[in-house]
Amino acid sequence: MERDDCIFCQVISGKLPSKMEYEDEYLAIFWDINPQAPTHLLIVPKKHVSRFSEFTDDDFDLMGKMMDAARKIALKLNLNEKGFRLVINEGRDSGQSIFHVHLHLLSGRRLMWPPG
Ligand code: 5GP
Ligand code: ZN
Repeated sequence: MERDDCIFCQVISGKLPSKMEYEDEYLAIFWDINPQAPTHLLIVPKKHVSRFSEFTDDDFDLMGKMMDAARKIALKLNLNEKGFRLVINEGRDSGQSIFHVHLHLLSGRRLMWPPG
């Protein structure tokens, strides 16, 4: 269900503009407004779930769809040649700032490990 106070719900509904890369019934994939790498995409379920740990067994397919979409978009953009990283932040210590769950896809530069 859309939440009026949620930025990503507003992006998904089109109330807020975005650079949309892919969309289907379940997912939206759009470019991060403040990219941390040359390619920085956000893979976002259309259903509002605040954080990763709030997914339930009913969301098993949806979680699979997020991973599958990440794989396909990485292949489509040839990110597998040099590499990429998938990240989900959850909670205060991770720096999660938008409380609508999303998978970051980062690529196009050498990424640090361990992460900062
Ligand atoms: P988090 O810190 O919650 O893991 O990631 C939230 C991400 O959403 C950040 O990378 C931030 O730049 C991005 N972001 C915040 N507001 C917007 C917006 O309105 N549009 C887009 N495209 N990205 C946003
Ligand atoms: Zn939302």
